[in-house]
Amino acid sequence: MMDVKQLLREMGFRFNKQFGQNFLTDENLLNNICSDAEVDGGTVLEIGAGAGTLTRVLSKRADNVIAFEIDRNLEKVLNVTLADCNNVKVVMGDVMRYKMPELEALCGGNYRVVANIPYYLTSPLIMRFVEEASNVTSLTLTIQKEVAERLAAKPSTKDYGAITVAVNAVADVEITRVLPRDLFYPQPNVDSAVVRIDFKRDKFDILNAQLFRKTVKASFAMRRKTLVNNLAVGFGISKQQAEEILLACNLPVGCRGEELSVEQFVQLYNTIENLGLK
Ligand code: SAM
Repeated sequence: MMDVKQLLREMGFRFNKQFGQNFLTDENLLNNICSDAEVDGGTVLEIGAGAGTLTRVLSKRADNVIAFEIDRNLEKVLNVTLADCNNVKVVMGDVMRYKMPELEALCGGNYRVVANIPYYLTSPLIMRFVEEASNVTSLTLTIQKEVAERLAAKPSTKDYGAITVAVNAVADVEITRVLPRDLFYPQPNVDSAVVRIDFKRDKFDILNAQLFRKTVKASFAMRRKTLVNNLAVGFGISKQQAEEILLACNLPVGCRGEELSVEQFVQLYNTIENLGLK
């Protein structure tokens, strides 16, 4: 691979902090990330191509790569670094401005997302794929280590929260590697991790996704409060009714949301749904 740092300097590129530009240049590492994602043919959607270092590696292993990049100043860099990558389509623009059906139409069928994403986009981007995508099979994302730990957290730990449950209800989550901050250029002030999110949409029967989300959100709304209190506030019901819901789920009346496994959240949601609560 060419010396990307030198190329960026030669082309007078200025890093834009606002876009979360922390690039990866180590080819071995980039290959390892593609192996974590099990890229072997197929279509890959990359969000944030940067200088095209990951894009190049993806292009060797995938059939097609669709790579978004918001920063117009990187267009001329990408024209150089991806000049010989004929299976890459670069889309200059803000990925968040695309509706999910538009994004999926660009991919044209099943696809994987492999990306080193800007920190500011992590939760909104993951939640968009969790809530709205139909054809995505997995997300392999380089993200802030603390966020990766939250996604992979177990019940009754401080990292376990609403996002953990939302993602694990439709996917399996695994941290595949930790990346110290000095692997990035320029160096950010946090460490990162690669997290793989494998979608299994039929893991649980959740017909009313909106109500499931509301149940989870309400359960974690006030972490110091018991689940009974949180459900009473969240659904506008009496504490007694909230207690009855917990009893129907075989949950101790004094428990807190963070103690429930994803299975138990699904059971809680089913009970709430059967009662006709909204
Ligand atoms: N993939 C490259 C790498 O690994 O070196 C770059 C990763 S860098 C962490 C994130 C990239 O996402 C930056 O190039 C940034 O300009 C781009 N980006 C930020 N916000 C974006 C958005 N909303 N849509 C598309 N690209 C975005």
